[in-house]
Amino acid sequence: MACEVKTTCPYCGVGCGVIARVDDEGSVSVKGDPEHPANFGRLCSKGSALAETLDLDGRLLHPEIGGRRAGWDEALNLVARRFAETIAEHGPDSVAFYVSGQLLTEDYYVANKLMKGFIGSANIDTNSRLCMSSSVAGHRRAFGSDTVPGAYEDLELADLVVLTGSNLAWCHPVLYQRLAAAKASRPEMKVVVIDPRRTMTADIADMHLALAPDSDVALFNGLFAHLAVSGAVDQNYISAHTRGFAEAFAAVSALDLAELSALTGLSQAQLRDFFRLFETTEKVVTCYSQGVNQSASGTDKVNAIINCHLATGRIGRPGMGPFSLTGQPNAMGGREVGGLANMLAAHLDIEKSVHRDLVRRFWGAPALAGKPGLKAVDMFRAVADGRIKALWIMATNPVVSMPDADAVEAAIRACPFVVVSDILRETDTARHAHVLLPSLGWGEKDGTVTNSERRISRQRAFLDAPGEARPDWWQLAEVGRRMGFSQAFAHASPAEVFAEHAALSGFENDGRRDFDIGAHAAIDKAAYDDLKPFQWPQPRGTQPRERRFFAEGGFYHADGRASFVAVDASVSRRANDTYPYTLNTGRVRDHWHTMTRTGKSARLSAHIAEPFAEIHPRDAEKLAVADADLMRIESPYGRAIVRALITERQAEGSLFVPMHWNDQFASKGRIDALVPPVTDPVSGQPASKNVAVKATRF
Ligand code: SF4
Repeated sequence: MACEVKTTCPYCGVGCGVIARVDDEGSVSVKGDPEHPANFGRLCSKGSALAETLDLDGRLLHPEIGGRRAGWDEALNLVARRFAETIAEHGPDSVAFYVSGQLLTEDYYVANKLMKGFIGSANIDTNSRLCMSSSVAGHRRAFGSDTVPGAYEDLELADLVVLTGSNLAWCHPVLYQRLAAAKASRPEMKVVVIDPRRTMTADIADMHLALAPDSDVALFNGLFAHLAVSGAVDQNYISAHTRGFAEAFAAVSALDLAELSALTGLSQAQLRDFFRLFETTEKVVTCYSQGVNQSASGTDKVNAIINCHLATGRIGRPGMGPFSLTGQPNAMGGREVGGLANMLAAHLDIEKSVHRDLVRRFWGAPALAGKPGLKAVDMFRAVADGRIKALWIMATNPVVSMPDADAVEAAIRACPFVVVSDILRETDTARHAHVLLPSLGWGEKDGTVTNSERRISRQRAFLDAPGEARPDWWQLAEVGRRMGFSQAFAHASPAEVFAEHAALSGFENDGRRDFDIGAHAAIDKAAYDDLKPFQWPQPRGTQPRERRFFAEGGFYHADGRASFVAVDASVSRRANDTYPYTLNTGRVRDHWHTMTRTGKSARLSAHIAEPFAEIHPRDAEKLAVADADLMRIESPYGRAIVRALITERQAEGSLFVPMHWNDQFASKGRIDALVPPVTDPVSGQPASKNVAVKATRF
């Protein structure tokens, strides 16, 4: 029977509302939800092609053990037994979960509870480590919490929007549409794009600053010094709500324009113009994404940006604030349930005994993890050297997406016991699994996701579960029950999981913790089914309301103040005589992650059919490469073969290659095989934007 269901797009962190319609013949069509506050009816190319990705081609439809079909009981018993045996013999830190920002919050919650509360290890990390963990670390250093202060509306209300390390037009297209519409209706609004490449986003910019790779800290430290010297800082805000201004200023005060120009590759005139524009515009939003986060200095970059907003008091007011744009549809939900190895559930801190005690009591946990677990890169190193002997991977494809991807593949292949939960049978990762568990995909599963502006929305099922596929939260709860934790994993529905998650967020929360959705602690199935998109926080006894954080201080460090962080402006140049080009990886407009879904749509694949390397004309001439020639790109870690795309949008001396293609879609297109396992020392996020490579005509 025909039906219409309101749900949420499963791709990027904008989190657009979608209306899915199933007609009498079972055909699905989608359109944007005009009532959803993230998109007001808009969809981008990926969202509008969702119905084209729902066929069952390639789907994993029943559990498998060692390549043969198995029943759920047999498969789940085996997973529970092998994890229990490994833990009994080698301890809880000998097992790990590697999960995903594609999981729904309910899946994430149960995974985190099982690993951190009942197995007794914090070895659960997520592909969100590759996406926004530097933003999390920067927020926590500055605010004492992982809080995004603003809302999408701020991009429309601002008089200056600074986009740094963000190709908004391709990576958050609906937010870009909102910004472009606002600028069209208020042409006096200014947009500055800071990116080594002249991306499509730069086409609406009043100023494009093609800074040198990884010189963002230098640029924002220079801005901070300029604001302080020119008297543009807000002394009242600094005195009332912050600490550490003098130390942070001391770290930047000696920088002069000539030095900044040398570090950033920008002219002194460009620097002066940008600094002056920021100084003289009250309503400024600075948006940052993977170009900031995916760096060995990602956390410092985030704090350099936040320093400028704290110094001017431009935070938490309409049209003002630093704004981290998450890549994945539920990176934020994962943060809320503690899906990162260094966090606890409900934005609590695993390194604080008082927080561990709170979670232990709430869960009745017998073995709450006492220390942070292994972050993604270290986790796969531990798999490689045999410290981790049982690994459960859910909804992600690390053999394509992790840095040093060949080494990750070798590690997974050699691991004694690997479980993969996925919707597809043949991914680069799934082929190394001992046990395959069929999961539900978009349109089949029920749960919640949180977008970049802290808005929680429902994903709703409108299709029957195919074959024997089951939700991820159910698989985890079943294994928890079979490991002897029946009472703690007795959830019968995602609504029950969400209610428990909400109750924990409000448990002994007197307002000193940012994440509180205690109003939903007693939600029943009917209310859950009807849940409208809402922004957190929503404490017990309150109605949903839009709010911003920190306009009047109220930070989450113990003294209630924000912390300026003194950050180092030095720039590491990785290119060298042997590997003279700087490789920058990223996304294209019409594909998502490793293309396991968007690759099914002929329309999306028509936009860009093959992996490519953007190369500047002078570099192409030096290499005797013509447009569409094949190029070999190599680093000490791996090599890829891609087509040349000659363009002046690319800075001389650097190459851009998208991260989507795997060896299924294009032979040797797996660019993450070239990325070294270099990480930010604070966040553990890999540096995927500044890789030294050499390039030749193939
Ligand atoms: Fe989906 Fe993001 Fe496009 Fe919105 S902008 S439709 S969330 S991919």
